[in-house]
Amino acid sequence: MFELDNVSVSYKDALALKDISIRIEEGEKVALIGPSGSGKTTLLYTLYELEKNYSAFVHQNYALVPQLSVFHNVYIGRLDNHKTAYNLLNLLKPQQKEVEQIVPILEALGMEVFLNKRVGTLSGGQQQRTAIARAIFRKSNIIFADEPVSSIDPHQAGAILELITQRKKTVILSLHAVDLALEFAERIVGLHFGHIVFDLPVSKVSDSLLSRLYQS
Ligand code: ADP
Ligand code: MG
Repeated sequence: MFELDNVSVSYKDALALKDISIRIEEGEKVALIGPSGSGKTTLLYTLYELEKNYSAFVHQNYALVPQLSVFHNVYIGRLDNHKTAYNLLNLLKPQQKEVEQIVPILEALGMEVFLNKRVGTLSGGQQQRTAIARAIFRKSNIIFADEPVSSIDPHQAGAILELITQRKKTVILSLHAVDLALEFAERIVGLHFGHIVFDLPVSKVSDSLLSRLYQS
């Protein structure tokens, strides 16, 4: 489903990914881990580019429209499934059919009370959950998520990762919380200085591998 073969990615002068080869099959739950700057975000974007139209992406900075309500931001996840006229109608007056599908997703995230709230007035954690709701609402079985629970209370983060992994078939995320990666992913990819240093099923990831990954 996703395959990179000796791919390197650089920004101006800096090489962010060096000779990366990776293959991800439909239905896999993969976590990218590694120190800050190791290339997690770059690898997520590079994979996402391969199936952009069929994937949802939760950006680390949420990429929401602050002037619009939670409803409208979530609805954006399906803009490309409808004609422009219907999208405009829905912008003016949320259509019952859409509200009925969006509310249960917000309920699962503890966000239903904010349905009509402007996103710019919400906290970081609430905005992050709005971005997750939009990705879940999107008609796609593939989700990419870049540190999707970084602004969410630790005691809620697990429930949200569980929701993501239940609602989407193929899940590729970056996480800085290694314990969450080990709990919710089936496969762990360890990145360091733009290299994949290990790519293993979660049962094979040892404490010593992890401590070596985070040594600078
Ligand atoms: P991570 O998500 O693991 O923190 P990134 O993929 O964001 O890593 O970054 C990998 C490397 O690429 C880092 O050295 C980072 O400084 C560099 N980098 C990332 N984005 C940019 C950018 N827009 N311009 C220049 N360098 C960048
Ligand atoms: Mg990153």
